[in-house]
Amino acid sequence: MNAQAASGPAGPDATIPLAKPVLGELEELAVIDVLRSGQLSLGPKVAEFEAAFGAVVGAPYASAVSSGTAGLHLGLRALGVTDGDEVITTPFSFVASANVALYERATPVFADIDPLTLNLDPEAVAAAVSERTAAILPVHVFGYPADMAALEALRIPILEDACEALGGRYADGRPIGGRGHPAVFAFYANKQITTGEGGVIVTSRPQDKERIDSERNQGRAPNMDWLDHDRLGFNYRLSDIACALGLAQLQRLDQLLEGRARVAALYREALSGLEDLTLPCEDRGLERRGWFVYVVALPARLHRDRTVRELAALGIPAKPYFPAIHLMSYYRERFGHREGQFPVCEDIAARSIAIPFFPEMSEGQVARVASALGTILTRSALASRA
Ligand SMILES: *Cc1c(COP(=O)(O)O)cnc(C)c1O
Repeated sequence: MNAQAASGPAGPDATIPLAKPVLGELEELAVIDVLRSGQLSLGPKVAEFEAAFGAVVGAPYASAVSSGTAGLHLGLRALGVTDGDEVITTPFSFVASANVALYERATPVFADIDPLTLNLDPEAVAAAVSERTAAILPVHVFGYPADMAALEALRIPILEDACEALGGRYADGRPIGGRGHPAVFAFYANKQITTGEGGVIVTSRPQDKERIDSERNQGRAPNMDWLDHDRLGFNYRLSDIACALGLAQLQRLDQLLEGRARVAALYREALSGLEDLTLPCEDRGLERRGWFVYVVALPARLHRDRTVRELAALGIPAKPYFPAIHLMSYYRERFGHREGQFPVCEDIAARSIAIPFFPEMSEGQVARVASALGTILTRSALASRA
């Protein structure tokens, strides 16, 4: 298939992408520079990217890794999570945040979510604590900050999944990632910034940084000769090519975040008239969402998957987001999870879809999505009254 056919026709009826990174000359030049230098990995761009990223989120130490998942894995290891431990986390997330506990032969223990913020409900977390609880892994879902003060009151080590939350702020106004716990960000192409694939884990403890840097590089100690390894490690390195791309993206971070916030405001305006559609919660106090996706919850009378198909027929991609982790077949079969265990999560997960959302989305594109949703909602409201 040629590029033209793959991207479809241009113009007002073209399919709107679900997500789209902003990549330009800045990124091209940064990558070409690294290619010409000949040093594609373990070079100077890694430390440069780490320093720049740490400064953005207010964290003293940052380690670039090959993905957000790799960062979460090394983060749990840095907290000492091991065989037989329990890690309390949310079933309303991307599957990686639960999988990483399994990598260390620990058990992900789910707790239900708050129906407004969609983040872990601290009371449900407290009820899930046992003597085997080794860590809490809150996810700042769709970029909205989790209730950190309430989770911290439980006095259990915390690893933050901030993979969707770059640019967000906690209730105390500080940037997400600057609270002292290890926190992980991710750079797949739909995230706030991208390196193709990649992630960063930030921390406030130098011993965490040292351990993570060694474990991402096969367990090599910093001052040892090549090939002498004093612990188990992985290849979770991020290349200099990717780090240079990340540096270029950080240079335009304000523009990227403002673009997303602008589109979110357009959506709120265009969709607030559709009264039985639930929009993302608004910021409270000093809390700020780092805009990542635009997820709406459909009214219960609409069949979610049929709605996704109807939107697709109108040239608008949408996807169920998130499906509940505990109800995925691997988790059902391995842990015997079933419907009814986490009712808030299950209700939201059954009704939520992500709609097209990216920094350069035009007013016209937002209007087309809103009008398609409006048509489907009106039709179903009339049908249910008939
Ligand atoms: C993107 C994401 C990750 C990490 O994804 P990678 O593809 O491994 O970079 C982890 N958790 C959440 C909630 C995410 O959205």
